[in-house]
Amino acid sequence: MEEVGTGLLDRLDAMQRVAASAPGGPLLIVAGPGTGKTRTLTHRMAYLCAELGVFPERCLAITFTRRAAAELKERLEALLGDVAEDITVGTFHSLGLIVLKENAKAAGLGSGWRIADDQERIQAREQAGEDDAAYRKLLRQQDLVDLDDLISVPVELLRNDPALVEKYRRRWQWIFVDEYQDVDELQYELLRLLSPPDGNLCAIGDPDQAIYSFRGADVQYFLRFNADFVDARLVRLTRNYRSSAPILAAAVQAIAPSTLVSGRRLDPARLDPEAALVGRYPARSVADEADFVLRSIDELVGGLSHRSLDSGRVDSRNAPVGNLSFSDIAVLYRTDAQSGPIVDALSRAGVPVQKRSHNRLRDRAGVPEITRELRHPGASGPLAARLRSAAQLLAQRYATPTLDGDQLVPEDIWSAVELMMPLAERVGDDLAMFLQQLATGAEVDSLDPRAEAVNLLTLHAAKGLEFPVVFLVGCEDGLLPLRWPGSAPSEEEIAEERRLFFVGLTRAQDRLYVSHAAKRFRHGKEREQSPTPFLDVIDSGLFERLGEAAPTRPKDRQLRLL
Ligand code: ATP
Ligand code: MG
Repeated sequence: MEEVGTGLLDRLDAMQRVAASAPGGPLLIVAGPGTGKTRTLTHRMAYLCAELGVFPERCLAITFTRRAAAELKERLEALLGDVAEDITVGTFHSLGLIVLKENAKAAGLGSGWRIADDQERIQAREQAGEDDAAYRKLLRQQDLVDLDDLISVPVELLRNDPALVEKYRRRWQWIFVDEYQDVDELQYELLRLLSPPDGNLCAIGDPDQAIYSFRGADVQYFLRFNADFVDARLVRLTRNYRSSAPILAAAVQAIAPSTLVSGRRLDPARLDPEAALVGRYPARSVADEADFVLRSIDELVGGLSHRSLDSGRVDSRNAPVGNLSFSDIAVLYRTDAQSGPIVDALSRAGVPVQKRSHNRLRDRAGVPEITRELRHPGASGPLAARLRSAAQLLAQRYATPTLDGDQLVPEDIWSAVELMMPLAERVGDDLAMFLQQLATGAEVDSLDPRAEAVNLLTLHAAKGLEFPVVFLVGCEDGLLPLRWPGSAPSEEEIAEERRLFFVGLTRAQDRLYVSHAAKRFRHGKEREQSPTPFLDVIDSGLFERLGEAAPTRPKDRQLRLL
């Protein structure tokens, strides 16, 4: 635990300190990537509790993923010690769950209510046809709720019960929301009910990183914060501590055509004259691109064949090439499908990988099947052990293909188990909690930043994270911006894709590589690809073109690690 007291805000710069120590009332912190928004948020919370006597149990912090919530909690514990346990930290879904649990009866739910699994939802949808009201009624008759209900039912309850609103407003007098640019209508409604217009609501975010409109998020809520909350105080942070100057310059140029922040500024705090330029690799094919990533990783970690896995994680910022760990490296892509060739190339060379998307955990192949096994009546004991034996059973069952066309393969089962295991270990033997968290969680929640493995992430999943080395692969027109054959994306869609590109570039601390393949198999055939126009607005002087003189890689080299 750090020294509580005078030193608490010492690790912040002047503007961060202004934000962290601002008085109560609505507060909007608008700042670009890497400016310390999340850091400022934790310090503000710690400062309020440790210095101003705010009770931790009066604080509610909402983040976008459970992984982010866990990290926030960890950082709060480091600053405040045990006191941090009394702060409520979670996602919007977990907040909805709290309210629903405490008011299940009022919501017309029986004591055994739970979140519907896939099969139950599909069944209800089929029975109800197009009629969404009928669909919800069917669920409710079985004491089931779906993910939307987790927010909409609490909103309904609160709307109709001023006393309930008062109760929660008294409980959570200080509310903090990270990544506020990605709230959707219902989440926004919930916040408005929980926080009075002059309440202590602190919203933090960056409109230029709004990337979830496909799930209903709307950056307008961010942009009109001032109108919704009385006398809102605005603080801007402009110093970027994350990225080297060339990376930051490239990112700032990349977002310029679509920026939603008037007078956007992002100044590099890191001014290392030796900083590497952005590496740009024009690959001949997808296989060549994967090979480029592998070759570069080989170089970054100082030779795969010599690499010892027990080297442990050190602070690798600015580590020279050759001294990096696998965990320092992330490969980012627009669509999950792009990960295949990269996983193959890295795995063949024995490079451990950790692959996560932003999709819901329960949508992953194998996860329904496993949860059904776990629900067998009479089963008990630690979930981790039960998970393992369910997986063994299923892997055996799926090892021989059945006549009724089972699509699953044992590999699906094992990779699903790998994603579910950290959650199982956390919840002990509470099956209900496990299933709840599974239904609301995303794949990226189980990302272990310390795992000695290269991180393979969709751009959406990489939000909020940072890595010393980032490869942004597939920087091609039609892929980023994503486009389906025969359809033209709207201006708005292109702008969102550009923001996604910006999010990708700004995950990098020391080294950033962008690559594009000249040919790619997409939508049923091999297509000629051209680099994304998003690259065109970046000054060519910020790039180092790689691979002009094609380096050779001995094909027969044996890279065995595990
Ligand atoms: P994003 O928009 O990507 O979520 P962010 O604004 O939340 O970014 P943080 O993740 O909080 O940024 O901080 C980025 C990096 O900069 C972290 O490694 C953090 O520790 C570091 N950092 C932030 N503020 C300072 C500071 N005042 N001094 C030194 N390092 C800092
Ligand atoms: Mg952040």
